[in-house]
Amino acid sequence: MYDKSNVFFKILSKEIPCDTVYEDDVCLAFKDINPQSKIHVLIISKGLYTDFTDFASSASSEVVYHFFKAIPQIASLLGISETGYRIASNIGKDANQVVPHFHMHLLGGEKLRDL
Ligand code: AMP
Repeated sequence: MYDKSNVFFKILSKEIPCDTVYEDDVCLAFKDINPQSKIHVLIISKGLYTDFTDFASSASSEVVYHFFKAIPQIASLLGISETGYRIASNIGKDANQVVPHFHMHLLGGEKLRDL
């Protein structure tokens, strides 16, 4: 069950600001408020999905396709296509997902620690 009180819903509805790096009909990308690497951007779906599992199973194929096609474009905009980057999504409590709105973390801009 999607909970509209989460902070990313408030960002999408412009109730609170964000530092946008990319936006289209399907996703919004903005800088993480607590960056874990030199570049740390969150890419969130505009559709209301609680996590990756919900997004992958409930969103249309076109939306899923568009969302994932946008990620390398965003990396390119950030200038990290050549140097490399990591994408990750936390799903549920064992992964310590804090915000219950589907998002991907995009990390880079420096040598990242091994997983
Ligand atoms: P997760 O643990 O995958 O749910 O990650 C949530 C992320 O959202 C964390 O990295 C937070 O630093 C980030 N975050 C929380 N509130 C904001 C905000 N208002 N603007 C930007 N990033 C945020």
